[in-house]
Amino acid sequence: MPKSALSCPAKTCRSPDAPQEKMSPGALTGAGVNAAWTSQARRCTGCGCVWYMDGDRKVLRGYFNNPVLSEGWLPIHS
Ligand SMILES: [Zn+2]
Repeated sequence: MPKSALSCPAKTCRSPDAPQEKMSPGALTGAGVNAAWTSQARRCTGCGCVWYMDGDRKVLRGYFNNPVLSEGWLPIHS
């Protein structure tokens, strides 16, 4: 898989090649997330994980409306 491909960074994702949609920062700030990365956040339509690019590194921050875990925002603390 090419390094630049937009695929899901979550190891548990069952469909990592699902579209990675650009998230609206309003959806995240509305859920109480106030951070600079929200302006470049993407969301995996397969598992609902939210991530952004830090240089050429994908940083996983949490889940938004994960189909299994919960509705709304669920942060990952790593
Ligand atoms: Zn995913």
